[in-house]
Amino acid sequence: MAEEKKNAARRGRNNLAAEDASVNAANGGEVWVVIEHEGPEAASVSWELVGAARLLADELGVRAAAVIIGAGGRELAARACASGAAAAYLASGPKLEVYSADPHCQALVELAVRHKPGIILLGATTRGRDLASAAATELETGLTADCTELKIDPEKKLLLQTRPAFGGNVMATIITPRHQPQMATVRPGVFPQPGHLPEAPGEIITSRARLKATAASVKQLEFIPDPEDELSLQGAKVIVAGGRGLKAARNFALLEELAQELGGTVAASRAAVDAGWISAQRQVGQTGQTVRPVLYFAMGISGAIQHLAGMQASDIVVAVNNDPGAPIFEVADYGIVGDLFEVAPALLEEVRRRKAQAGAAGGLRIETGTSK
Ligand SMILES: Cc1cc2nc3c(=O)[nH]c(=O)nc-3n(C[C@H](O)[C@H](O)[C@H](O)COP(=O)(O)OP(=O)(O)OC[C@H]3O[C@@H](n4cnc5c(N)ncnc54)[C@H](O)[C@@H]3O)c2cc1C
Repeated sequence: MAEEKKNAARRGRNNLAAEDASVNAANGGEVWVVIEHEGPEAASVSWELVGAARLLADELGVRAAAVIIGAGGRELAARACASGAAAAYLASGPKLEVYSADPHCQALVELAVRHKPGIILLGATTRGRDLASAAATELETGLTADCTELKIDPEKKLLLQTRPAFGGNVMATIITPRHQPQMATVRPGVFPQPGHLPEAPGEIITSRARLKATAASVKQLEFIPDPEDELSLQGAKVIVAGGRGLKAARNFALLEELAQELGGTVAASRAAVDAGWISAQRQVGQTGQTVRPVLYFAMGISGAIQHLAGMQASDIVVAVNNDPGAPIFEVADYGIVGDLFEVAPALLEEVRRRKAQAGAAGGLRIETGTSK
């Protein structure tokens, strides 16, 4: 009974439940993005989400705002405002310098209870998932993880949160109609990087988080970057992807060479990953990563819908396949019908020849184009 009372009191304190969330959203609940950062360096998904938040906020007639917890707040706030946020909430405190779920969750919940946002978005990264689930639990609201699409319901003004469900066999659109804020994590690469608005001053709201004495304190001894991150598909301008048509793990060496010459990185279809030819972190598609490079090579990839879901926003798609009827050619800007074991070495040779020609001029240039 005492426990019941305690829970009810906690609900009263944290839960921003409305009879219908649409009422709250329409009444000015902002669209927040929690900026994931290491000092002044933010994860690129955070900026992608600021751009997306701006569009959602415009549809709702509310402000988009960034939430920055811990060090580096001022610089990040300026970047957030230049990326489309109208405001930035900065929470500081001694236990917030290094990411740790408990104090960061307390700081986020405190801000949410005070300012009552309508929507909170985070990147679907290890840290974003950790923080989002802890904060949603405290706020007693719903959370949709790993979204691949966000929209506003034009009538009810609710956030439509779409994500693959049942092992990726269906796309489910989820709403949070009775609780506030509506929370979602979004995969990196789903939204484009926003343009830069140089003259965009935003409101900065600073606060010192009042953390419970029991809040965990983490001391960072050393930061060791994950070597896989250095090869990250996110942010790669050139991706050379291989599929089942490569026939064996060792043949990825050919794609590695081409990627290296073009300053890019290697990726794969699920068939190649399932065959054990390459790590699962390299998988592009519905159950892999979403990428949007300037140039995407699909080598020996048929173009199944689940693969296209992760790469069709690439600026230029070059497909190499020996089957002229392969569906990949429907999304390709350039299609080469042929044996990839002949085409890839020929491409490599041509790239090397042109680089040698360009010589001191700095080699081939890959220009960023407009996303499709
Ligand atoms: C729920 C679910 C989620 C999924 N998620 C993903 C995902 O995230 N990513 C993903 O990629 N797939 C995903 N899949 C699998 C997807 O449906 C396809 O099975 C997969 O993408 C096929 O990979 P592939 O194109 O490499 O192989 P295949 O479909 O077998 O295609 C191989 C291609 O290589 C060509 N080829 C063969 N030899 C050569 C050669 N010498 N030169 C040139 N071309 C050649 C063939 O003509 C063929 O078109 C998912 C499936 C399901 C059911």
